[in-house]
Amino acid sequence: MAGSEAAWQAANAGVQVVIHEMRPKVGTFAHQSGDLAEMVCSNSFRSDDDEQNAVGLLHWEMRAANGLIMAMADAHQLPAGGALAVDREAFAGAVTARLHAHPNVRIEAGEITALPDSGHWIVATGPLTSPSLGAAIAEATGTDRLAFFDAIAPIVYTESIDMSVAWEQSRYDKGDTQEEQRAYINCPMTKDQYEAFIDALLAAEKTEFHEGETATYFDGCLPIEVMAERGRETLRFGPMKPVGLTNAHDPQTKAYAVVQLRRDNALGTLYNIVGFQTKMKYGAQTSVFKMIPGLENASFARLGGIHRNTFLNSPTLLDDQMRLKSRPNLRFAGQVTGVEGYVESAAMGLLAGRLAAAEIQGRALESPSGTTATGALIHHITGGADAKTFQPMNVNFGLFPAVEGLKGGRRGRKDRYKAYTDRAKADFTNWLQDQEVTL
Ligand SMILES: Cc1cc2nc3c(=O)[nH]c(=O)nc-3n(C[C@H](O)[C@H](O)[C@H](O)COP(=O)(O)OP(=O)(O)OC[C@H]3O[C@@H](n4cnc5c(N)ncnc54)[C@H](O)[C@@H]3O)c2cc1C
Repeated sequence: MAGSEAAWQAANAGVQVVIHEMRPKVGTFAHQSGDLAEMVCSNSFRSDDDEQNAVGLLHWEMRAANGLIMAMADAHQLPAGGALAVDREAFAGAVTARLHAHPNVRIEAGEITALPDSGHWIVATGPLTSPSLGAAIAEATGTDRLAFFDAIAPIVYTESIDMSVAWEQSRYDKGDTQEEQRAYINCPMTKDQYEAFIDALLAAEKTEFHEGETATYFDGCLPIEVMAERGRETLRFGPMKPVGLTNAHDPQTKAYAVVQLRRDNALGTLYNIVGFQTKMKYGAQTSVFKMIPGLENASFARLGGIHRNTFLNSPTLLDDQMRLKSRPNLRFAGQVTGVEGYVESAAMGLLAGRLAAAEIQGRALESPSGTTATGALIHHITGGADAKTFQPMNVNFGLFPAVEGLKGGRRGRKDRYKAYTDRAKADFTNWLQDQEVTL
């Protein structure tokens, strides 16, 4: 994500770029192709609401900056009721093709195993940075790599879902078209079914952590069994909440809990179970997930998994130009800098590509103001965050400076978010326009 966007931005500024991608020569456990910008888990870029949502605002900023990731996401969008979901293969294929075709870009397949001493580099090797490069980075930073765990949500073949039990509907019928309003498949549970499911989840065999690994989860991506461990009702107020949905087969009966599945490819042949990332063992997963009404005969295209995330302690290691303070010929971008998510990673790539190009061309360029979504993220990871407790961060309005004179609390939220996004759009537009003058 970050590397593709960085290359695109720098190449469009007129810089010659070489992309070094280790796949398909060297793989990771999560990637399945040799394409650039492969989405390894969910096929969603999350909310596309650029007035009330911080990630939607990040979409807006990347579109305004002629971002490749957003352009290809828009071109390969799938209906998802207000979220920006894409056909993952078509999306990654298109990003790869556009970069291949760019006259200023060359793509070299092969793993980089050491940090180069000269030249301008952007290290955007992501959460699954290869072990040899990871060791080289750890040596250069003098800081031990930090690790935490996410988990992959399972994917089901659509034809194996029992539609006499499940029904299609987006929560609160959200979306402009009928297709969007029916973008999710819903599986209802009674109280007894829910209780039995929670029991099975708690009893299921889980993957153990390797010795010496510290399991600190990122709260936005908790495995379902960990949520269940936190309280029997937690899932019913999280991914299994029954609100905004009416059972098409039995409109009078309110479901006690609902499992939602979201379309995973353009053909509509695959659906992922929303929010069901897990570290249960494979055998346990199939038996537990088949307890979900409508999924009794489900076939799984992919089961959930567990993975490692590599990221720097950016507040201490990076300067405000995203350069490693101790070796300023190296910039870092993407998830490895301690942002979390496809969109955030791509946004940090966009910025790194522009900053690198400006430096090479002798132009002064600063990061956008912290009032923008891109700026809020970079300010957070290179300064705003507490280095001692630094953990990967999603973009959110909590990172934005307050707009004076607006009401706090839940009631003022709508006006406040609108004010944040209006201000961000104006400031980001100015930042882009200033570059046009100097380019
Ligand atoms: C299993 C898993 C599931 C995730 N699920 C989600 C999700 O559902 N939603 C979400 O928003 N985010 C998710 N993330 C987090 C994150 O958003 C993605 O990993 C995202 O792709 C990060 O973008 P990136 O550009 O930093 O890294 P990547 O997209 O992973 O790109 C890094 C690239 O560098 C290559 N590489 C690594 N080491 C070397 C080397 N030494 N030499 C050459 N090339 C190298 C890799 O092959 C890869 O192509 C997930 C992460 C993982 C690991």
